[in-house]
Order: sequence, then C-alpha cells, then structure tokens
Amino acid sequence: MNELHSGEGREASSHVVENFRLPLHFQHCCERTGVYRITFNPELKSVCIFFRNCNFKCKGCIRKNERIPSRTMLMGEVLRKLSILDASLAIFMGGEPTVHDEMPEIAEFCKEELGMRNVLLTNAYSLTEEHLFHFDDVCISLKAISDEIHRDFTGFPNRRVLKNFIIAYNFCKNYGLSLRAESIFIPSYIDCDEIRRIARFISEIDDEIPYRIDAYVPVHGAIWRSPRCEEMEKALKIAKEHLRNVSCLFGNEKEQGRTLLV
Ligand code: SF4
Repeated sequence: MNELHSGEGREASSHVVENFRLPLHFQHCCERTGVYRITFNPELKSVCIFFRNCNFKCKGCIRKNERIPSRTMLMGEVLRKLSILDASLAIFMGGEPTVHDEMPEIAEFCKEELGMRNVLLTNAYSLTEEHLFHFDDVCISLKAISDEIHRDFTGFPNRRVLKNFIIAYNFCKNYGLSLRAESIFIPSYIDCDEIRRIARFISEIDDEIPYRIDAYVPVHGAIWRSPRCEEMEKALKIAKEHLRNVSCLFGNEKEQGRTLLV
C-alpha cells in the first residue's frame, strides 16, 4: 500500500484484516474491470473505488489534472483488495461508476459480503433503479439546469439527468436510501443564476434534499478561474433561499485523515 500524500503510509498494514477468504463464487473472477484505483482512509475507515470511463466530457473535469493509468484491475484483484481492509464505507466514484457493467457486482460484494455502507457518486445520465439496489447513499452531480450550459459543459443534454434525479429520489424514498445533490460553481459560467435554477429544481422535488456547492478547481485547458470566498458565500445564500440543507466547499478545506493507495 502506498500513500498518496506525505504522511504515515507505513502504518497501512496495521489496518489489513488477516486471513480473509473470498467467498467461493467470487474466487475465479478473471474479468477485467474498469477500476483503476482504490484508496483507503484508515481514520474514516473508508475506501474510494475509482472507475475509469465516463459518459460525459466535462470541460471542467478535475480528472484533467490527473494521470489516469491505462491498466485497470481484474475483478478478483478488486475484491481481494477490498477484502483485506478494515473499512466500513465504500465510495464508488470515477469517472462514472454506472457505465461499468461490473459495478453492481462490486457493490453487492461490499455490502453483502463485507457489510460496508455503500455510497454512489454519479452524474445520473445512465443511472437506473437497478444500479441503486446495493447502495445506501446516493449523490447526484447536477451540472446545470439550463440545457445550453449543460450541453456546453458536458457535451450532453440534461433532460435524462433531471428525469433520473426524480426517479432516484422516489427510489431512495421508497427503499430508505439517502439522496443528496452537488454542483460546481464556476464564476461567470455556472454562476449564481444557475445555482438558483439548480436549487429551485431540487426544492420543487423536496426542499430537504441536502445540496452542496463545490468551488471550481482550475483544470488544464479550461479558461475559468476558481471562485472567491465572497462569490461562494453569495451562491450559498441564494441556494438557502430554496433549500433547507445547503453547504459548500470553498476548495481550501483540510483533508480528513490520510489517503493510502491500496
Ligand atoms: S461527469 Fe464527472 S468524471 Fe465525468 S467528465 Fe464530468 S466531471 Fe469528469
């Protein structure tokens, strides 16, 4: 296990569960998955599972600042790595987890075999009810309500996303999952007016859905700057006019715990 940032990666082995055996039906998994990275945070007892592909081509995608390895893991490798960690929370992220056919099997394994709480981070474009069966928490990223901005930013229309958001909301309500939403604030682009539209859209479904606004982090090849504190505060205030539970990430928050590469 290697540490992603400076710190105490050497201690990672003390969080490994010894003598764990994969259940028989998972032991011969030689198929290639879309998982290219798994990280572990021992303080939070959480794992992040990164899926490579995405159906959007967002101009402001944070992954433009990363080097995505071309090699992805075999199913057996993924399940074995997850099995040896003392984790209680699994976060499925990407890329876009829902475009990977093997994702539900990994989620089922985390929940049913390892007893983890599963969190799905998704853009909702390809989200179906079947994807949600093995999850406890769902976070949908709403890029924009204005279709023109959505198409410009992601390369795709947003009708399906908005429709799937409502389907996910109903599913979550019926089956006891929690649902939240998040957006990126980009000055002079996905700005206060767009945040107001997003907050209004969510509030028309349920004004208690938690909503988080994240400050844009500049990426290679994009023209935008990161927002100033007062711009984020203004966006927060606007969203609060429509929703009861709004928060924001200013972009300078300290990371909780250590992130170890498994
Ligand atoms: S949906 Fe997320 S991972 Fe996919 S391109 Fe957009 S920002 Fe990147």
